[in-house]
Amino acid sequence: MIDQLGRNITYLRISVTDKCNLRCRYCMPEDGVCKKDHADMLTEDEFITAVEAAASLGITKIRITGGEPRVKKNIVSICRRAAAVEGIREVCLTTNGLLLPQLAEQLKEAGVKRLNLSLDTLDPQKYAYITRVGRLDTFRAGLDAAFSAGFEKIKVNAVLIGGFNDNEIVPLAELTKQYPLDVRFIELMPMYDSGDFGPDAYLPYSKVLERLPEAVAVAADGGVAKLYRLPGAQGNIGLISPVSAHFCKDCNRLRLTADGKLKPCLHAPDEYSIKGLDLDGMKAVMEKAIWNKPAWHGDLDAIHRSQAGRNMNQIGG
Ligand code: SAM
Repeated sequence: MIDQLGRNITYLRISVTDKCNLRCRYCMPEDGVCKKDHADMLTEDEFITAVEAAASLGITKIRITGGEPRVKKNIVSICRRAAAVEGIREVCLTTNGLLLPQLAEQLKEAGVKRLNLSLDTLDPQKYAYITRVGRLDTFRAGLDAAFSAGFEKIKVNAVLIGGFNDNEIVPLAELTKQYPLDVRFIELMPMYDSGDFGPDAYLPYSKVLERLPEAVAVAADGGVAKLYRLPGAQGNIGLISPVSAHFCKDCNRLRLTADGKLKPCLHAPDEYSIKGLDLDGMKAVMEKAIWNKPAWHGDLDAIHRSQAGRNMNQIGG
């Protein structure tokens, strides 16, 4: 699937639910999600038909996300069926990790190859603050379960927030020395109504490099992160800069929300519904969505908020 700008779209991110067992301040409101009618959400069969349609058009990589994918009761079955679709080379999953002790092995066995785990702080009190309801020791148990299950790759995602965790850049980066994992710092994105962060919260990725003078650049791995490595580390440090240095010209992604909307751009209001369509119907809508993929996502900062019209939990980060 090539869009009008020649970008080859090979990566579909599927949000299987907008519900979450955390309430991260930059991601969703405190009172959770506005309840949608169950009948408006994609069924498991529709998710799989969407994967089949996408694969037939050239998508090779699927990321399952949310909300929190693990609160979805049939998550293992969705992953297993998605991984079995012809043409899909990789099914990855993004999670807050809290339910991994119960599910890590089943997900690995279902064909999930890679995990991204979200962790913004190593301080238990700050973790409870930013997630509103989470406990850091539960995350650590999830990380241990992920290592025991033997996933091909584990990455930790930290949202970089000025005044909150910029004083933890070094200890977070040093996780790459303690464990065989990558740590990625993601610039905070000003979503629809996801928290009232002031201008000082929006730090550029260069702030991470200032704090890690010994980090050396390493070759990119085909993703959007700029990669670095600390001496003696077992994994890389990734810097993801949607705000200070957007990578729209290299964007190879299409997103599908839990209520069946294709979003060709994370921060654009454009949505294309595939709810209730058959394979051919979904393919036709996917082709249209890709062809009309916006050139870039527009300015993002404390004043210029995302035009997505949804919070991140309703799109899938
Ligand atoms: N619940 C899962 C989790 O916690 O990873 C998956 C969904 S969450 C929306 C996916 C990713 O989006 C997380 O790494 C989260 O930190 C990131 N995210 C959410 N809101 C964001 C924002 N406003 N700016 C930057 N990243 C954000």
